[in-house]
Amino acid sequence: MTTSAAPPLLELLHDVFGYTAFRGPQQAICEHVTAGGDALVLMPTGGGKSLCYQIPALARHAAGQGVTVVVSPLIALMHDQVGALEEAGVHAAFLNSSLDQAGAQAVERELLAGRLVLLYAAPERITHPRFLAMLDSLHERGRLALFAIDEAHCVSQWGHDFREEYLQLNVLAERYAGVPRVALTATADADTRADIIERLSLQGAQRFISSFDRPNIRYAIVEKDQQDRPREQLLRFIQREHPGEAGIVYCQSRKKVEETAAWLAARGLAALPYHAGLEADVRRRHQDRFLREDGLVMVATIAFGMGIDKPDVRFVAHLDLPKNIEGYYQETGRAGRDGEAADAWMTYGLADVVQQRRMIDESPAEDTFKRRQIGKLDALLALAESLDCRRVRLLRYFGEEPVSSDPIAGPPQDGVSPLGGQRRANGPSVGAYCCDNCETPPARWDATEAARMALSCIYRCHQHGGYGYGSVHTIAILRGQLTDKVRERGHERLSTFGVGQAYSEAQWRGVLRQLIALGHVRAEGDYGTLTLTASARAVLRGEVAIVLREPRAAEPKSRSRGTTPARSRVPAAAAQLDAAGQARFTALKTWRSEVAKAHNLPAYIVFTDATLAQMAAEAPADLDAVAAVSGVGAKKLDAYGAAILEVLAGVDAA
Ligand code: ADP
Repeated sequence: MTTSAAPPLLELLHDVFGYTAFRGPQQAICEHVTAGGDALVLMPTGGGKSLCYQIPALARHAAGQGVTVVVSPLIALMHDQVGALEEAGVHAAFLNSSLDQAGAQAVERELLAGRLVLLYAAPERITHPRFLAMLDSLHERGRLALFAIDEAHCVSQWGHDFREEYLQLNVLAERYAGVPRVALTATADADTRADIIERLSLQGAQRFISSFDRPNIRYAIVEKDQQDRPREQLLRFIQREHPGEAGIVYCQSRKKVEETAAWLAARGLAALPYHAGLEADVRRRHQDRFLREDGLVMVATIAFGMGIDKPDVRFVAHLDLPKNIEGYYQETGRAGRDGEAADAWMTYGLADVVQQRRMIDESPAEDTFKRRQIGKLDALLALAESLDCRRVRLLRYFGEEPVSSDPIAGPPQDGVSPLGGQRRANGPSVGAYCCDNCETPPARWDATEAARMALSCIYRCHQHGGYGYGSVHTIAILRGQLTDKVRERGHERLSTFGVGQAYSEAQWRGVLRQLIALGHVRAEGDYGTLTLTASARAVLRGEVAIVLREPRAAEPKSRSRGTTPARSRVPAAAAQLDAAGQARFTALKTWRSEVAKAHNLPAYIVFTDATLAQMAAEAPADLDAVAAVSGVGAKKLDAYGAAILEVLAGVDAA
């Protein structure tokens, strides 16, 4: 039932959100969905999925077609989305367990009266008979405009976050034929995609699949240093590259989360812990602070992150190996959603490899499942040990062939990225800011001989006592060290005792780690006992050349090691301001945090850093000039335009 003409989509984008152009496939998706088509949208985190249903929701509501119902699994996310929409002048609400009865009733009244443009709700709420009855009544009156199913991978067992309640959502297809549905996810793999289509009955939906490249993220994976003090490496990384900026540090265990957060806090960083073992209200408080305050570091297990929409997370660091590349991509993807430069940094060592293997070995899962997990871990280890571009490897893993013919340059300037063109533009070439390997190619050494020594040492140990040993003992034998254990087992009599004295302990650790990563050695059981795999034979016979990464003496020379600090060389908008611009930016941020506090909203919902930086650079002198800044829509201009001019005038007068 179309009762009035909707404004053009680009006009909505500009007037409501203050953006001048659609990104990547957004326009095609918005047109298709607004016209009533079903869609499956696959876009990386930060690609701009929300607008793909919010713009159609606005257009269809303006055309008299009623409300858009958004299925979302997380309460915090619903709050933020609704807060941001209301800030932009769009009438939206959520229904979830955080509302009391009176609050829920008020929302239902708004819904039934047709005043809401968007309603967010959890899946179990939507499929509840009482709620379905309300939807029926809207449907009968032609006031059900669209269903948007966010985080659609939750419907799939292959996805990383399966939720039983999502399976019920098929009722929407059956019960409300003719109401368009759009499913959105940032999960790339083919199994999950097929599941979404099948379980949500989206066989007829148009598929919009974006590149999964995140051109503004720089990937770096460093070896845990010799003294194995990864926390100090982390601290140096944060102090050097991201002082005072927001970031997430992932650790595997709750204990390590707490210790690391306390350790960083003791060194003056604003760091908070987050894991599933903390009291619910502590967790909520920490999450809230992370969202609302500037520059906090959240040290967390993987329990943290899903649905965290914060756009200005400048780095994601891993102190432990993630489970697989999907996990790594998902977690690192939380950096730089705003399209500005961000870092994905990980430190790892031999012990991590051994531990991850052990966790798989000890899990009660079936063998086929374990084999699949081992395959995935191997792919991650290959990424960690790779000598070439990490971005290219990541994209290939997700079945994407980088468009560039230069293997280290990554996709070309106007590549297929949905973030179109927002890459590090200041470097000598795109490749140079791509990853640590492109920036400082790792030295390689011919480790064929060393690999043969290590393999034969592992083999001899097995022969000698009938069982294997871990890496520490193996290295002691290779280096000819008469440790107690060596004496006890009589291993000084092995033919491989002392054959590898020419190599340092760090080199040997690297050799073993990489032999595991290459699949020639397995580390098994509680002690990470080393055993040979079938492929080791060819290496032992000298038929396979082994070229390895040279252990780095220190941390790789990064873009920050030169005379210019890192931050002035990356194109984060604020970093490029001159002194007067910086003063304006600081004043605008202070003003923003007051407004955010007064409205009880995260600062980025008032305006993002990128918007403030553009204001600081351009110093608009009147309301028209403020309106021209990206991110300033009509409602925000009304609400804040005058205050912004005042803040800017105050700085210039000072
Ligand atoms: P996703 O849900 O895909 O992770 P979001 O919808 O949260 O991404 O968008 C990420 C960021 O990009 C948000 O800050 C959003 O306002 C911004 N954004 C989205 N589309 C555009 C656009 N066309 N122009 C400018 N900024 C945009």
